[in-house]
Amino acid sequence: MNLMLPYAEARQKVIEIAAALRRPARRETIEIEQAFDRVLAREVRADRDYPPFNRSTRDGFAVRAADTAAPGARLECIGELRAGGSFEGTVETRQCVEIMTGASVPAGTDAVAMIEHTKREGRTITLERAAQIGDHIVPRGSEARAGASLVAANTRIGYAEMALAAQAGTTRLEVFAKPRLAILSTGDEVVDARATPGPLQVRNSNGISIEVLARTAGAESIQLGNAPDEKVALRKDIERGLEADILVLSGGVSMGKYDLVEQVLGDLSAEFHFTGVAIRPGRPAVFATCRDKLVFGLPGNPVSTMVTFELFVLPAIDLLSGASPRPLPIFQGKLVTPVHEKGAIAHFLPARIEWEGREARVTQLPWQGSGDIVALALANGFLVVGPERPDIAPGEWVDLLPRRGAI
Ligand code: AMP
Ligand code: MG
Repeated sequence: MNLMLPYAEARQKVIEIAAALRRPARRETIEIEQAFDRVLAREVRADRDYPPFNRSTRDGFAVRAADTAAPGARLECIGELRAGGSFEGTVETRQCVEIMTGASVPAGTDAVAMIEHTKREGRTITLERAAQIGDHIVPRGSEARAGASLVAANTRIGYAEMALAAQAGTTRLEVFAKPRLAILSTGDEVVDARATPGPLQVRNSNGISIEVLARTAGAESIQLGNAPDEKVALRKDIERGLEADILVLSGGVSMGKYDLVEQVLGDLSAEFHFTGVAIRPGRPAVFATCRDKLVFGLPGNPVSTMVTFELFVLPAIDLLSGASPRPLPIFQGKLVTPVHEKGAIAHFLPARIEWEGREARVTQLPWQGSGDIVALALANGFLVVGPERPDIAPGEWVDLLPRRGAI
């Protein structure tokens, strides 16, 4: 089977298929401190109006704006209000109350004059500027009404959402359980990263890159180790991987005689959604569903594995987490050195992105192709070059994709 897609379409395919799977049913309740990056399953509501009272946003004097229209208006200060304090009674004409930031504006007043714009002699306050109704007051309920939704279900929780939940007193949050992602590398030549490789063996680096990409994207990872390039053993490991929500394989998806992943998935009646993507690195990437689970067969070359994970596996993790897929954060920068890339494919080239003022400048890094993690570790992003631009001159604008966590 040969189902080769442009990368944007391949990504869209993943989003369609993952969205069509059942939403995560499993939920759990966690303490607010643990909620960063989790996905909310039950909305957080306002327990009262926010702000709960008409709040002063400045230190100064609570006044009746109408009293301050004449230049140099003089008012009598009849009291003081600190944050958390209350003022009994009503402020009458040509009176004012000294007020601190965060205090409740007293009855009768409708503006706060900043202390910087006043002069004080005993109980007499002289205003240097006229106050307008509403100056430096946030009205009760203007941020949110009691009962309103503050954080919607399916939101990925960041620090602002956590602060908002804390403000509303929701200190235990109902979130979706993380999707479980099984990691299986393949290859007779691959040994554990802690083992001493023979001269022709390679250490398993994909296990760690996939694990950290999965974990930081919000999945729980399960390491299945390495499968040999042999059908019976590979099938057994793949079947174990299918117990998770997502199975990510590395290696064994190219055209070689011992690239058996597609065959074994076929034997397990997988439905293939693509078996190649028009990109480099990452061309042989495979995406299938099998026993209602998502299966990604990523090419084994380490840079291919990482690029295809970012492009295709991340949106699947988002959707199975209960969130919307985060968009690819592509932005533009100016090319520093010329780029020449051939072929009817999109290139994701390791690149160094620096800023000059507000303008991003990008330099392609020398590299030995999709096995070159040395180059990738020096890169903080990728230069994304489509097939329509074989030659790009310095100064031209190009698309850039940050390497996750590196910018
Ligand atoms: P494959 O996709 O199986 O054809 O592998 C492509 C290249 O990636 C080969 O040079 C493999 O040795 C290498 N490779 C495969 N799996 C891993 C892995 N888990 N860690 C590091 N390199 C790998
Ligand atoms: Mg292999």
